[in-house]
Amino acid sequence: MTELAPAAAALTALADARKRISLVIPMFNESEALGVLFSRLDAVLPALSGYHFELVCVNDGSTDDTLARLHQLTAARVDVTLVDLSRNFGKEAALSAGLFVASGDAVIPIDADLQDPPEVINEMLAKWEEGFEVVLAKRGDRSSDSIAKRFTAQSFYRIHNAVADVEIPPDVGDFRLIDRVVVNALNDLPEGRRFMKGLFAWVGFKTTTIVYRRDPRSAGTSKFNAWKLWNFALEGVASFSISPLRIWTYIGVAIALAAMGWGGWIALRTIIWGVDLPGYASLLVAVLFLGGLQLIGIGMIGEYLGRAFMESKRRPAYLIRQVVRSNG
Ligand code: UDP
Ligand code: MG
Repeated sequence: MTELAPAAAALTALADARKRISLVIPMFNESEALGVLFSRLDAVLPALSGYHFELVCVNDGSTDDTLARLHQLTAARVDVTLVDLSRNFGKEAALSAGLFVASGDAVIPIDADLQDPPEVINEMLAKWEEGFEVVLAKRGDRSSDSIAKRFTAQSFYRIHNAVADVEIPPDVGDFRLIDRVVVNALNDLPEGRRFMKGLFAWVGFKTTTIVYRRDPRSAGTSKFNAWKLWNFALEGVASFSISPLRIWTYIGVAIALAAMGWGGWIALRTIIWGVDLPGYASLLVAVLFLGGLQLIGIGMIGEYLGRAFMESKRRPAYLIRQVVRSNG
């Protein structure tokens, strides 16, 4: 018996010596996907024996039985940290909450629907060991997404990167490995509105990319509809660029100059040829066109004013009901 104690102590020391990797898994109505998720993780993670894994499951205010299923599936596990948010705050906030709670030396956000294959984690860890602080996973093949989604995603990256100050690498989702220093930097960012792709890109650090194949959803349906995605894209551009705001000055100057020129021409024409019957159509077009431009400009200002207003309230991005750590 006595010789067992040092052996156990040595084992514990060994366990402690292993690097800790936290997987952050946001979940919103993922009840159907949970079973496959855990069995797939259990098929992959134990093989990576050099690391100790922590599964940070963030329940983002699910309205189905996700939370109950989570409790049920994780009751016997020792590697789970369960974060229950007070309501649905959206994937961005759920990720932020997970990053905040995660204790690993590196953190990997991963979708609950297994669209980010856990098999890729091995490759990420290898790059991390080479000294990279961020390992991006790029979707080499988006054939599991619909044509419309692929087209809109491509347009989003193109427009965002043309306009915004911080470039977002195309076809890279939230699935990536980030070192503890990067996680700390992200946790320290004060903004309440969190466009994670942009924040990830903004913090920088030594980055490399690996390529993977994005699988179709394991179960259930996508939680993002077209309207949500549009708002997401707008959020991305508006929180990382003021170009949409600035561009109106130039458009305004260009239109004012053109209008002045046109006015001069009309005055000249009237002096030389006298008054003719001006067309109402051209007048109406000019008025409506300018009115439209002004409304867009005001809307743009509203977008930013709204953001400034929301930030000024200093509300947190999410609220946690409770954190349950099965590993003490
Ligand atoms: N998700 C979330 N809160 C939300 C919407 C989605 O936590 O309000 C999670 C969802 O459970 C999944 C991940 O974010 O784990 C990606 O969502 P989904 O698969 O629906 O998005 P898609 O892959 O279609 O872009
Ligand atoms: Mg998905």
